[in-house]
Parts: sequence; C-alpha cells; structure tokens
Amino acid sequence: LGGIVKEPPMHIVHIAVEMAPIAKVGGLGDVVTSLSRAVQDLNHNVNIILPKYDCLKLSHVKDLHYQRSYSWGGTEVKVWFGKVEGLSVYFLEPQNGIVWKGCVYGCNNDAERFGFFCHSALEFLHQGGLQPDIIHCHDWSSAPVAWLFKDQYMHYGLSKTRVVFTIHNLEFGAHFIGKAMQYADKATTVSHTYAKEVAGNPAVAPNLHKFHGILNGIDLDIWDPYNDKFLPIPYTSENVVEGKRAAKEALQQRLGLKKSDLPVVGIISRLTHQKGIHLIKHAILRTLERNGQPEFHGSDIDVILHRTFLGHPFSCILEMNVVLLGSAPDPRIQNDFVNLANQLHSSHWDRARLVLTYDEPLSHLIYAGADFVLVPSIFEPCGLTQLTAMRYGSIPVVRKTGGLYDTVFDVDHDKARAEAQGLEPNGFNFDGADSGGVDYALNRAISAWYDGRDWFYSLCKRVMEQDWSWNRPALDYMELYHAAKKY
Ligand code: ADP
Repeated sequence: LGGIVKEPPMHIVHIAVEMAPIAKVGGLGDVVTSLSRAVQDLNHNVNIILPKYDCLKLSHVKDLHYQRSYSWGGTEVKVWFGKVEGLSVYFLEPQNGIVWKGCVYGCNNDAERFGFFCHSALEFLHQGGLQPDIIHCHDWSSAPVAWLFKDQYMHYGLSKTRVVFTIHNLEFGAHFIGKAMQYADKATTVSHTYAKEVAGNPAVAPNLHKFHGILNGIDLDIWDPYNDKFLPIPYTSENVVEGKRAAKEALQQRLGLKKSDLPVVGIISRLTHQKGIHLIKHAILRTLERNGQPEFHGSDIDVILHRTFLGHPFSCILEMNVVLLGSAPDPRIQNDFVNLANQLHSSHWDRARLVLTYDEPLSHLIYAGADFVLVPSIFEPCGLTQLTAMRYGSIPVVRKTGGLYDTVFDVDHDKARAEAQGLEPNGFNFDGADSGGVDYALNRAISAWYDGRDWFYSLCKRVMEQDWSWNRPALDYMELYHAAKKY
C-alpha cells in the first residue's frame, strides 16, 4: 500500500475510580473519559472498568445491563455493561457493599475499598479471558493494579499485557504512587513542568528512566461553545464577541449580578490549599475597592478587608466582577467561604458572587460569560480549567506552576517561549504566592480590557483557535503504549 504502514489496533483497559460525567470529582475523571475517546478515535479498542457506585449519574449511561457475576474476595461481584460518551464501560459491583457509600471518596477506608476494587478488576480480566495490550491505572486509587498485576496476574494468562501508570496529583497517596512507579512498565504525569517539579520526590526519583510528562487535553465535543446546551447562543471564534456578550448577560442574570459592562473574572475550582485559597479570596475582596478607595464601609466586610490586606493597600483598582464556582471537601474551608458569601450577599454587594456547590451546567456558562478565568494554584499538575477557558474564548490568568506554566504564555513576557511552541501568547501569569503576584497579573489583565477592547477581542479569538485538544497528547500516549509493549 505504497509504504503506508497500518498500525494494528491496540486494546487498552483503564482501571479507574472516576469517570466524567458519571462519577467525576476532579480532572482525573475528565482525563479518563477524554483520553479514552481520543485513543478510540485513532481506531484502538478502549474499555474502562469502574466501580458501580450507588451515586453514578445513570442518566449518562446508555444501554446499561447486567452481564454476569463472579466470586471473588469472599463476595459476589456483579458485572454491568453500558456506554458512556461512546465508550464501553464495565461496572463492577461487589455485593459486600464497598461501592454503596453515596460518594466516590470520603470514607475512612477508601484505600481498602479501592484496593478491593483494583483486585476485583484484575480478577474480572483474568476470569473473562481478556488479554489487553495495556492496563492503564491512575493515581493512588488504582495504583494497586500495578503491583497486584505483576505479583499475581502477569503469570496467569496476562503475560502480553503491560501496565502504564499515570500520576494526576502526587499530593495524594505518595506512598501508593511510589510503589506503583516501581512496578509499572511506564509511568506518566500530566505536564512536562510538573514532571520536572516532582522529579526529586522520593516516590518518583528512583524511576525517572520510565517517567514521562504528557500534557492533558480537553474533549472538544464535551467543551464546545458552538454546541453547548447551557449557553444562550452558539459561538465560534468568528462570532466570539456576540457569543460571549450573550453568555455574560445570561450569567449576570442567573447570579443576580447587576447587568453591566464590567470585566468578569471567573474562578471554577475545588477549594483546597492546592488551588491557592488565599489568592482566590484576595481576588474576590478586590471587587470591594474602586479606584483605590474602599467603596464599602460595612463593619464585617471592613474587618475582613483590613485583616486580609493589612500592609497591602490596593492601588487604583479598576472595577470588575468576580464569580466563584467552587466547593471544598474540607467542611471548615467550605464554612469559611459560606460565611464570606453571606457577608458579601447580605450587604448587597453586587460585584462578587460565590456559588459554593458543584454545578457542571453553571461552569459552562461561567467559562463562556467570563472575560478572564483565574487559576492561582500553588501547584497544578496540568489544570484543565485554563484550557477549557481558552476553548470558550476566556483569557487565563494563572500562577506559573506545573501545567499552567506549560499552557499559558504571558502577552507581555512570554512571546519567545510561546513562539518556541509554535504559539502566540495567550494570557497573563505571575510568580510568587502572595497577593502582590495576583494583583500584578490581574491589574495588567483588567487594564488591557479597559484600554483596548479590539485588542482584547482579538486575544479572545486567538485563544479559541489554539489547539488544546487531545489530538496531540493521544498520539504521545500511543507512542508510550507502544514503548511499554517493547519493555
Ligand atoms: P483538579 O482535578 O485538581 O480539581 P483540574 O483543573 O484538572 O483540577 O480539573 C477541574 C475540573 O473540575 C474542571 O473540569 C472544572 O471545570 C471542574 N470543576 C471544579 N470545580 C467545579 C465546580 N464547583 N462545579 C463544576 N465544575 C467544577
């Protein structure tokens, strides 16, 4: 065929505890679904093995049906099958109830529950005679797959199979992760810079020879402003101004913000230390000031303002709206934000809105309706928020760390670094972890918005046209899977 070598399809099985949109907690769930779809689109066979939680969003599962059951670990494990976003998913439901807890994480024996799930997933492959080329496991929660496979299953009919392990966040379960790194044939993490940042970690350092950074992408079908039922009008880079204006109005209306032509800064985040909570609060409280003068003198807010910013007076702050969509797994942090929200809302403060739940539809409207999306993470393995923001024509304002550093190039400072990637600058960034850093980036962003709207809109158009999809990363993963097979 004229030199065209057709790659034979590979069979890849993900064993994971999260999958968007049916059991998503964070970026890991997005990656499992969208990486699988991208690899399947390259004509490979992909399956996912997931716990059949009682909290699965079943409305997103097509043709769910019971297949069979097997005995393992002193219980019966029921196997269900269904399609999610066009992917074939096996759901395992051990009848001992370990996945009937009303949540994905949050039980005090999560490690034990997921260890049981990992083991029963390998047993499922073994008993079903399935011999995938690659088993791909993720983070501490399916890390046990790596060693259980090598110690127990590799020698029982699965000798062709290789194990790939991805670290989405080293913060969680470093002990498990170190052991999986040791046993896996290949290991990855989700950006080059994060791979460098964690290279010295004892969980990673001994196995750098098989460790690679591959950037995450976003799923262009799931995140598509031209085909998004949560937006008032569809848009592409061609009508970005009109599309975003309509989305901003809808957002302001939905959140009870005064309809105004102010720049809107969106924040969509888990509220944890990693995400830079103090910097998020700083951005919210900035809206209390206008042109250097505290505009509001209510006692509560004043106390917060002065306590938080003593020694850091704002200078000449331009007006803006801040919209936060976030929730905190730690009830103390959640409470803290609920109190802040109550204070702001009860004083009729109309420039900041805090929505402290998990709300996927609202996240779409914020990505579209915001002018800027702020991601001030203290560390960030890859980050999907800034990529999704760009897909919707919002300009990322980020802290220079991990994947944020690899994907956001400052319009003032990073022209050469962007060019080296074949890109044009696409956002604003800052160093440091204090409020001065956020101010530095936000001031430049907001001023640019006020100074030159045409320039700003051309930037929105530009970021929409950059490719942050899985197209390239999926090819990198295929190369890695092939390398693992030769291992
Ligand atoms: P992480 O996995 O560390 O939470 P990522 O940036 O990789 O961070 O992924 C976060 C994902 O979760 C994004 O898709 C973001 O839109 C979504 N998200 C975070 N918080 C919320 C929320 N409160 N409501 C809706 N979506 C959210």
